[in-house]
Amino acid sequence: MEVLSSHRALRIAIVGAGIGGLTAAAALRQRGFEVSVYERAPQLGEVGAGLQMGPNAVKVIRALGLEDQFVKLAAEPQVRLSLKWDDGAVRAREPYKGAMQEKFGARYHMAHRADLHSLLQSLVPEESIHTGAECVGVENRKGGAVVRLAGGREIEADVVLGADGIHSVVRTALFGKSEARFTNQICWRIILPMEVLHSAADKLPVPLDGSEYTGWLGPTGHVLFYPLRGGELLNIFAGRVSTQWADETWAVPSAIDELLDAYAGWHPGMLYVLSRAREAFKWGIHDRDPLDHWVVGNIALLGDAAHPMMPTLAQGAAISMEDGYAVARYLDQGRSDPAAALAAYERDRQPRAARVQMQARQQFQNNQFVPPPPPLPVDWIYGYDVVTSPIKLAGGQSDVERA
Ligand SMILES: Cc1cc2nc3c(=O)[nH]c(=O)nc-3n(C[C@H](O)[C@H](O)[C@H](O)COP(=O)(O)OP(=O)(O)OC[C@H]3O[C@@H](n4cnc5c(N)ncnc54)[C@H](O)[C@@H]3O)c2cc1C
Repeated sequence: MEVLSSHRALRIAIVGAGIGGLTAAAALRQRGFEVSVYERAPQLGEVGAGLQMGPNAVKVIRALGLEDQFVKLAAEPQVRLSLKWDDGAVRAREPYKGAMQEKFGARYHMAHRADLHSLLQSLVPEESIHTGAECVGVENRKGGAVVRLAGGREIEADVVLGADGIHSVVRTALFGKSEARFTNQICWRIILPMEVLHSAADKLPVPLDGSEYTGWLGPTGHVLFYPLRGGELLNIFAGRVSTQWADETWAVPSAIDELLDAYAGWHPGMLYVLSRAREAFKWGIHDRDPLDHWVVGNIALLGDAAHPMMPTLAQGAAISMEDGYAVARYLDQGRSDPAAALAAYERDRQPRAARVQMQARQQFQNNQFVPPPPPLPVDWIYGYDVVTSPIKLAGGQSDVERA
C-alpha cells in the first residue's frame, strides 16, 4: 500500500450503505482515507435473503480480513445438483466443496445477506455512517464534489462514490434516467428452517440432506435450494415466466398460494417444501443495457448503481464488492489526482462488469430453452482476483482482463 503523499487524508463521501458501499468504505479505511457514508434508510440492515458468494467475492472478503468470521456464518455446498422439474430426475451432479478453492483460489459460499452486511459494517465506525440521509443530488465543485441531502444539507468531499443501488440518484444526476425492460420473469425469495427439507425426505426424488446447491429446472422457470448459516437455514430462490406483474422492488409480500399456483405440476416433493413457507417476497426482473461511463470528474458509481444486472449468474453483489475494493486501490495509488484515479478505475472495471451483465442476460435467455444448453463459462468470472489485478493509472488499455 502506498504511503500518504499529501498532508491530509482524502475525504470520501459514499452514498448508500449496501454491500458495495460498505465494501468500498472498509477498503478505503484500510488505506487511511477519511470515509463518511450517507444512507437513506433510517436504520442499517438487509432484507432476509440468501446470497451466493462466488470465489471472486470471497477473495475480497479475505483481503478485508473477514474470511474466518465469514466462513463460520456461511455454508459451502458439497455438490451442485440439477434436477428435472417434474419427475426430479438428476440431470447433472457437480462437486463444489473444495473444488472451487482448488480451481479458483477461494471457496464458493452461500450467506445470509444480513450476515455479510453486518460483517462489512463491523469495519466501519458507527459515527462514519449517517442513516436517514437521503441523497437528492451530486455535483462536481472546486477540485472536489458535493452530495446534496434531502432537507438541504450539503456534504463536501474530495471524492463522491454513488453506491445507491439499482435506482441510483447519483447515476441519474450524472447520466440521466436509464431505461429498464421487464423480462417477463418474476421471482420469489423464501428462507425456511432446514428441518423443513428433512421433514420432506420421503417425498423427494433423491436424498437431500441440505448440504447441496439444488436447482429444479423446468421450461417455465427454476427453483434453487441452498443452505445458509452452516446448514441451519434453507434459502429458496424461485423464478418463473410471467407477463402479469412487474414491480422491481425486492420486498413485496406474496401469498404462498400464489407461489404454489405458479409451480403447479412441478415435483410434489419440491411443492411440499414450498408449501411450508410462512412468508415469501416477490419481485420482477428487469434488464438494462450496460452504461458506457461510470465517472464524471470526482464522482464515480459502483455496484448496482453502475451495472444493475440480471440475477442469473448470482454476481451482482460479487461484482459490487470487486468495485468497492478496486476503487479503494485506484484512489490509494492515485491520491495526488483523484479524478485521474477514478477515470482509470472506470477503464479497468467497466468492461468486466459490462461483460458480466451481458453474460447474465445471455444465460437468462438460454435458460428459456428446453432443454437448456450447457451453462456459459464462468471461470473468467470466478478466477479473477481484484485484490492483485494490476493497477494502471495512465490512459489506454490496462493489462487486467479485457472483454
Ligand atoms: C433476492 C436477491 C438475490 C440476489 N442474489 C444474489 C447472489 O446470490 N449473488 C450476488 O452476487 N448478487 C445477488 N443479488 C444481487 C445483489 O443483491 C446486488 O447486486 C447487490 O446488493 C448490489 O449492492 P449495492 O451496494 O450496489 O446496492 P444495494 O445493495 O441496493 O445498496 C444500495 C444502498 O443505497 C441506499 N440508497 C438508495 N438510494 C439512496 C439515496 N438516494 N440516498 C442514500 N442512500 C440510498 C439503499 O437504501 C441501500 O442501502 C441478488 C439480489 C436480490 C434482490
